[in-house]
Amino acid sequence: MAETRHTKVLIIGSGPAGYTAGVYASRAMLAPILVQGIEPGGQLTTTTEVENWPGDTEVQGPDLMVRMEAHAKAMGTEIIGDIITSLDLSERPFKAQGDSGTLYSCDAVILATGARAKWLGLPSEEKFKGFGVSACATCDGFFYRGQEIVVVGGGNTAVEEALFLTNFASKVTLVHRRDTLRSEKILQDRLMKNPKIETLWFHEIEEVYGTDMPLGVEGVKVKHTQTGVITDLPCKGVFVAIGHAPANELVKDTLQTHMGGYVLTKPDSTETSIPGVFAAGDLTDHKYRQAVTSAGMGCMAALEAERFLAEENS
Ligand code: FAD
Ligand code: NAP
Repeated sequence: MAETRHTKVLIIGSGPAGYTAGVYASRAMLAPILVQGIEPGGQLTTTTEVENWPGDTEVQGPDLMVRMEAHAKAMGTEIIGDIITSLDLSERPFKAQGDSGTLYSCDAVILATGARAKWLGLPSEEKFKGFGVSACATCDGFFYRGQEIVVVGGGNTAVEEALFLTNFASKVTLVHRRDTLRSEKILQDRLMKNPKIETLWFHEIEEVYGTDMPLGVEGVKVKHTQTGVITDLPCKGVFVAIGHAPANELVKDTLQTHMGGYVLTKPDSTETSIPGVFAAGDLTDHKYRQAVTSAGMGCMAALEAERFLAEENS
């Protein structure tokens, strides 16, 4: 028979928000359970150097997340490798169905499911996903040694990916739909100084093309956003880095959201539209979306969950 596990506080997600919530909820003696999801450690496991985590001039993203997991565990968080497939917030205790078959019930829940990479939405992008089209340079860059690569986007992710890919590629072309980057100035400076990187301003990807047998990319057709002129850009890899959308599948129909699906929280709080349900990190943050702000919100969520449960029992 399927197991049922009850906990006072269930934390869903294992990025900086989830693990920080685990540290604080454990120290409040709430014995939290944290369910990691499909990406243990979250988005930072898909990058290399992190240079803006306070206390570390430079730290590898995956190493930082291993340390956060160990910290939460050492404080008393029970960390479970499972994926929540549905969440019932209609009555308390709340119920979360695990992919493993385990049913989690809880008095309060902290949602820290973060964000996922966005795609262009082209049929040709879909066709070559995993066969030349990727959204993770650290995962797939190695396959393009000595090849020409295209990176799409103009934010921090696109610039970091372009820089990282120069470790493998003979040439990287950054294709951006405007002529101004959103990324931090320090990254822009590195991008402009890198002899392997070329920028193609005012262009969008019109189509990814390649061979069928074997399935593989041979290039992209790019369109000038102002003149409409289409040109051909041969390449073997296309890295899409056009931002992230909140991973709100579990709650998009039950909680109030705004700004394209981010879970709405009360001002200066992680409280959502349902009492006892708290949201932290990129799931709720359309503005900053940083590891340190996510960790800060994880702390707030655990403190607010503690207060919520204490007031209920007083
Ligand atoms: P995430 O890190 O997105 O983690 C979400 C977690 O939720 C994952 O563990 C996932 O498995 C889990 N989850 C999702 N759905 C479910 C489910 N149904 N059941 C159970 N678990 C679930 N920020 C910086 O400050 N500095 C940087 O240098 C930096 N570099 C970056 C580089 C890249 C390539 C990317 C993509 C982002 C970078 N960021 C950086 C942003 C930073 O990674 C995010 O702001 C931060 O990770 C958000 O943390 P989070 O805890 O909200 O969620
Ligand atoms: P982002 O900042 O939202 O940037 C997305 C980029 O993709 C923008 O330049 C945007 O163009 C472009 N874009 C969006 N949709 C597009 C489309 N359909 N076609 C073509 N281009 C499109 O996303 P991000 O770079 O992934 O960063 C997300 C968050 O993570 C940010 O808060 C970022 O600071 C953080 N992050 C931080 C670091 C770091 O601190 N080192 C590293 C990575 C990520 P426009 O500019 O024209 O809108």
